[in-house]
Amino acid sequence: MIATTNAGKVREIRAVLDAVGWTVNAQSDFGEMPEVREDGLTYAANAVKKAQAAAARLGLTALGDDSGLEVDALDGAPGLYSARFAGAQATDAQNRRLLLDRLRETPRSQWGARFRCVMALISPRGASRVVEGVVEGQIGEEETGDGGFGYDPVFVVDCTGRTFAELPSEEKNRISHRAHALAQICDILIAEPAVWQRGNDGA
Ligand code: IMP
Repeated sequence: MIATTNAGKVREIRAVLDAVGWTVNAQSDFGEMPEVREDGLTYAANAVKKAQAAAARLGLTALGDDSGLEVDALDGAPGLYSARFAGAQATDAQNRRLLLDRLRETPRSQWGARFRCVMALISPRGASRVVEGVVEGQIGEEETGDGGFGYDPVFVVDCTGRTFAELPSEEKNRISHRAHALAQICDILIAEPAVWQRGNDGA
């Protein structure tokens, strides 16, 4: 069970976990779920909070993630606040516009950036693991590409020279911060299936 309402994330996570034989449900498959406030001071705190709430409510192993974009010229902002950089109800397009506006005042040499993703896997019986994935890149001068979501059109990945929004989704799913975190989650699921499977005691 993926504890997120972000359809882009669900798509990416499902593609990877399906391939290793796990049946993945999204939060939306279970109807209305109480909203979890992302008020933790770290990505890990938020990821654990989301996964714990879902695991306790549904009695299923839950995967919570929290992620953000960290830009050198902005001392790591928007970071934890990436989703609401331009305001609580901000759209992805508004967040990207604000980011490019802020950066115009700063030297191009400081536009280095990274996406960070922390994932928490929690069983209904309280087993838990936390992992982190990072991908390095640069902010582009303008939006390029129409795939992905969020900041993808302005994030130029170091190892490809193209934005995430220009890459086919399979390629993004191989190299992204979420992919790096998910690879570790896959290893954990494969190494200790009994801890995470439904009906088992995951303590
Ligand atoms: P949260 O992890 O749901 O709190 O939000 C993270 C926010 O960071 C998203 O709403 C996006 O704005 C941004 N973000 C995280 N991962 C990605 C990604 O893979 N591409 C683009 N933006 C991302």
